[in-house]
Amino acid sequence: MSKVKSIFACTNCGATSPKWVGKCPACGKWNTFVEELVTKPTAQEEKQRSWKGPQSGSHQARAVPLNDVQTGNTQRITTPDKELNRVMGGGIVPGSIILMGGQPGIGKSTLLLQLALQINAITLYVSGEESEEQIKMRADRLGGSRSNCLVLTETNTDKILTVAQQTGPQLIVIDSIQTLSSPHIESTPGSVSQVRECAGEMQRFAKETNIPIFLIGHITKEGSIAGPKLLEHIVDTVLQFEGDQHYSIASCAPSKTALAQPMKWASTRCSRAGCARCLTPASYCCRKKTKTSAAAPWRPLWKACDPC
Ligand SMILES: [Zn+2]
Repeated sequence: MSKVKSIFACTNCGATSPKWVGKCPACGKWNTFVEELVTKPTAQEEKQRSWKGPQSGSHQARAVPLNDVQTGNTQRITTPDKELNRVMGGGIVPGSIILMGGQPGIGKSTLLLQLALQINAITLYVSGEESEEQIKMRADRLGGSRSNCLVLTETNTDKILTVAQQTGPQLIVIDSIQTLSSPHIESTPGSVSQVRECAGEMQRFAKETNIPIFLIGHITKEGSIAGPKLLEHIVDTVLQFEGDQHYSIASCAPSKTALAQPMKWASTRCSRAGCARCLTPASYCCRKKTKTSAAAPWRPLWKACDPC
């Protein structure tokens, strides 16, 4: 039987405590602890996760001499988006988890649906926010091929991973991590426990199957992805979308580069018709420079563009 217990978790960093505390001892933020009921699955239940075949998990752990480890054979999946390839150090690493964070409406879903339509790989686009019809309408606006893009509207992680196991895509996009819900713990979608559990399940799936997964993560009012530090520890790369809805331009920079090269910046301009590389971010910076308000979101672009 699963054990149900009550814990208190920090909504900023995911730190947990058996009792409520006013100030988070891990990240120092005040009043971020909320109570959550967590069901911990037993080892038997863990094995019964529906996406896992009868053989999975039964392989033996083995240690190998370091000399026998082959390197340099990792074939990155290159995307048609040169900026995205560049910012990720040459392409998508198989089995990696990439978190794409940013404010709602800035163009994250558009950029990743466009990627799913243009990339030369079968992509499973999972949405917990839009219906199949809405996704189709957006795809019609973006153009590109639809034959490689599978659409699934689902929020249950077990069902998503079972479909992924059956269809065998080469890339998975999850829109968004906050809408997902794991049946293995009792907690509401978007809560610290759910976000951590769902991201952890995605990570285990990616590592076991070598299928890379993009997770879209919305930014909260305070300017952070729900449990940002907690997600940063789970994923391999964080691509942070920043910008301004008025100018419809966003910069994209990996804030964690476990698998990518050192920090790189890219600038992308998003509109209803899709996202495209912005070759003249400097001109936007100049326009923004005259405005004293809301300068902070533009900071990354100053790094991305030439001095102007
Ligand atoms: Zn904290």
